[in-house]
Amino acid sequence: MTIRDLYNQRDGPLISLEFFPPKTESGKRNLLERMERMSALDPLFITVTWGAGGSTAEKTLELAKIAQSDLHVPICMHLTCTNMDTKLITEALEACREHGIKNILALRGDAPISEDWHNNNDVVEEPQFKYAVDLVKFIKANYGDEFCIGVAAYPEGHCEGEAEGNEQNPLKDLVYLKEKIDAGAEFVITQLFYDVNKFLDFERLFRERISKDIPVFPGLMPINSFSLFHRAARLSHASIPQHIIDKFPTEIQNDDGIVKTIGVEILIDIIEEIHSKTNGRVKCFHFYTLNLEKAVAQIVSQSTTLSKILEDSDNEDDEVFEQEDDDGDIVLADSHEENPTKFKRRRQSSTVSADIMHNRAIISRGKTDRSESAEFPSKKLVVSISSGSGILGRDATWDEFPNGRFGDSRSPAYGEIDGYGPSLKVSTKKAYELWGSPISIRDLKVIFVRYLEGSIHALPWCDLGLSAETALIQEELIQLNHRGYLTLASQPCTNASTSTDKIFGWGPNKGHVYQKAFIEMFVNQRQWETVLKPKLDYYGRRKFSYYAGNSSGSFETNLDPHSSNVVTWGVFPNSQVIQTTIIEEESFKAWRDEAFSIWFEWSKLFPRNTPSNTLLREVYSNYCLVSIVHHDFIETDELWDMLLE
Ligand code: FAD
Repeated sequence: MTIRDLYNQRDGPLISLEFFPPKTESGKRNLLERMERMSALDPLFITVTWGAGGSTAEKTLELAKIAQSDLHVPICMHLTCTNMDTKLITEALEACREHGIKNILALRGDAPISEDWHNNNDVVEEPQFKYAVDLVKFIKANYGDEFCIGVAAYPEGHCEGEAEGNEQNPLKDLVYLKEKIDAGAEFVITQLFYDVNKFLDFERLFRERISKDIPVFPGLMPINSFSLFHRAARLSHASIPQHIIDKFPTEIQNDDGIVKTIGVEILIDIIEEIHSKTNGRVKCFHFYTLNLEKAVAQIVSQSTTLSKILEDSDNEDDEVFEQEDDDGDIVLADSHEENPTKFKRRRQSSTVSADIMHNRAIISRGKTDRSESAEFPSKKLVVSISSGSGILGRDATWDEFPNGRFGDSRSPAYGEIDGYGPSLKVSTKKAYELWGSPISIRDLKVIFVRYLEGSIHALPWCDLGLSAETALIQEELIQLNHRGYLTLASQPCTNASTSTDKIFGWGPNKGHVYQKAFIEMFVNQRQWETVLKPKLDYYGRRKFSYYAGNSSGSFETNLDPHSSNVVTWGVFPNSQVIQTTIIEEESFKAWRDEAFSIWFEWSKLFPRNTPSNTLLREVYSNYCLVSIVHHDFIETDELWDMLLE
């Protein structure tokens, strides 16, 4: 069924969920299991994002197809049109048609636009697709009513032209939103926001000026960590009201557990306010899940409004049992099921299962008047996920504190939260302002050094600024950059600093934290082969382990295959050892490809055959990314001495 039909049929409150294609294979396997568990929240639909310019086309289609066939929830695939080949758009729509995906979120996407953009031969020019409305029209013209089309809206106004001094203005966008609806769009999902009034104003304007009955789904992003929250709001141009900022005093900002709990309360307040102020007219809330489940489960189970979703199936007799089968695998059984042998199995550790797709958690079936084949929410299941209790809860929450690209690559949430694919993270105008037009390696060294000195706040790969601990190795890093090692990420070592330490501390009180020193940098391939690699081989992998790879996909290491190294961990009272930063082969390979694609994105700011374009492409081709971990974390200076000796 289409989203529009289902929306008309079902009473609120409801939720819908967004997922993105994971960056690693194991992340993908674990996401499928997660999506199945989260279908216990009975979402109206699930959306799967599309990487800008088609960068995730294959992965998005694969995930959308599997989800459509395996979950009893309608799937909506995002599709962008700018910087996209018409052929790819048609292929994607044909694949959706073939696999019964009936809902498309039609988007423009963000192009790496510069004044010279069109001079760049690598960019697909499709004048047919300038705005999302063109994609809506294209789908309507070629597929009639076969797809139910949704479009994006921006309660605070779209950010276009901001760099040129144009303010975000929802009124400006409203005209174009109406165009998209007039062209045939049947539902609207908004950009994430934290200012409820901005959403309420937007929804009222939409009802007055555009449509009384087209569904509007407010986009909500749970707060999983303080830095992620800020980053996502900044990337989405969403303002954060002062009363929300005040809920996070500096001393708790590093405690992800507390931040998450406060975040749940904030999201619940937003939902309750929207629901009550619109008298339930806004009845479905769309969650940008970031591929995580605990926060959403907590919000649903603790919100007065949304917990009603769980009530229908909150039947005392309706239980989910966890029991072991002959192979020692965990079987989830439903007390109403007559034939337990047909239950599918779930491995005890979802994090290492290679065949997770075939080992699904079984969700208990409540009794409702809808399709018998559908799986319905079990309050017990959701409570188990939201509290992280029991085997099911642990499976659901083992990766609830993601650490970007230094997190566990088996997590579906692994990787930078970078919006919709690798990007320069700043507007084109800002990119020129920050990094100018480099024409030599010397210019590049200067850019990297300026970042380390704090005179520019971002590099194309990092926009979070330097952490306090970097000050401890700042001199060494600057020297390395002067010598041509373009450093991207690093940390000094520490041995049992307290968890409240101003520089190294994180996590709950009364804990101790540990770090191994590491460095990640771009190194000229020749310099790597003739200088650095021989040096590392001389010391051996007990002292220094490394991964190295280039843009053509090469990979070298002195470790065993599929190795992994924890470089930050913490020991806390009444808790297992917590590992937050992991450097491992699978994540290194995923990041290697992304890191090089950013050199490429950067080069697109300059017309082909100009000195800057040529330089950045040369680095793309002739450098390799090297990551080195120093294992003796008692020896504070050893990594830096070795590199500079
Ligand atoms: P449009 O509706 O085309 O609007 C873009 C800008 O152009 C706006 O400023 C609008 O006011 C202006 N405009 C529109 N029509 C005209 C016109 N005729 N004349 C002049 N100006 C006009 N990006 C991805 O790459 N992948 C995703 O999966 C993805 N999912 C998203 C999901 C949601 C819910 C949202 C809110 C955004 C998503 N995005 C995604 C980001 C989106 O692609 C960008 O925000 C993009 O900049 C705008 O897309 P749009 O579809 O809103 O564009």
